[in-house]
Amino acid sequence: MDENKLGSHWDEDDFIKEADRLWEAELASDTLPNDNRQKFPCVRCGGSGTYHGVRLHQKESKCFTCKGKGYFLTSQHDRDKAKKRREIKTAEKQAVLGH
Ligand SMILES: [Zn+2]
Repeated sequence: MDENKLGSHWDEDDFIKEADRLWEAELASDTLPNDNRQKFPCVRCGGSGTYHGVRLHQKESKCFTCKGKGYFLTSQHDRDKAKKRREIKTAEKQAVLGH
C-alpha cells in the first residue's frame, strides 16, 4: 500500500495552493527569451494588456486580470476551474465553522 503513502502528502488544498503559487510566479516573471510556451490571450483586454472599459480612481490602464501582460500561460478554463474549486473549499470551511 505504498501508493497511498505517496499520495497522502498532497490533498486538494495543496494543489490549489500550488496553482496559485505558479500563477503568482508567472505574473512576476517577464517573458523569457526563446519562450515558446503556449500562450492564452487575456479575455478581458483581448491580449492588449490594457483595460479599455470605464475605470474610476485608477491612474493606470493596465489590465487587472493579466497585469498588463496581455496573455496567460494557463487557459481561462483552467483558471476558472481552480477558482471555482477554491470557492467551494472556502464555503465548505465556513459551513464547518458555522456548526
Ligand atoms: Zn488582460
